[in-house]
Amino acid sequence: MRIILIGPPGAGKGTQAVALSERLGVPHISTGDLFRDHVARRTPLGQEARRYLDTGELVPDHITAGMVRERLAQPDARDGYLLDGFPRTVPQARELAAVLAATGTALDAVLELSVPEEVVVARLLGRGRADDTEEVIRNRQRVYEKQTAPLLAHYADILVTISAEGPVSDITARALEALSASRVRGAVGTR
Ligand code: AMP
Repeated sequence: MRIILIGPPGAGKGTQAVALSERLGVPHISTGDLFRDHVARRTPLGQEARRYLDTGELVPDHITAGMVRERLAQPDARDGYLLDGFPRTVPQARELAAVLAATGTALDAVLELSVPEEVVVARLLGRGRADDTEEVIRNRQRVYEKQTAPLLAHYADILVTISAEGPVSDITARALEALSASRVRGAVGTR
């Protein structure tokens, strides 16, 4: 299965991605985690990406695209993956479409985690990551609205939206149910 997880910063994408990737048997690929790893290892890519992570701006597409292409070419991603944090812009969605076309594969679903802004800001303020200051959090929400939310229309035909409020395990159950109820190829319930 090839699934994209989408939702505002603080919607719980990372938490849900871990649970869902285990249940669906596909790797969880988070571009945020990949960038943080590069930053921690002080690679040239990490040194370039760092200032964007620090301010909550998106890392430029030419940097992001190469990193994602490399990750998707790893053997564990051959039969499917759960993408968390990519694509985040319409040009990135086109980049992904090119990768899919080149390998003769297709996306199964785009899962949107929907949460009101006041809830996500409160969650992020309690998380304590380096880029979780109030100013950076608000900027990341604006970046989401402006650059990432247009993807919901872009993927309208395979979009599955669930409420991401409430206990973590309830949200996971809701996501699995919504994915199997949608016309997802290789539906979850049949695994
Ligand atoms: P995340 O862990 O998904 O919240 O991402 C943390 C930060 O990494 C973001 O605020 C961006 O600076 C950067 N980032 C993650 N994914 C992408 C992406 N697909 N395109 C550009 N920047 C990204």
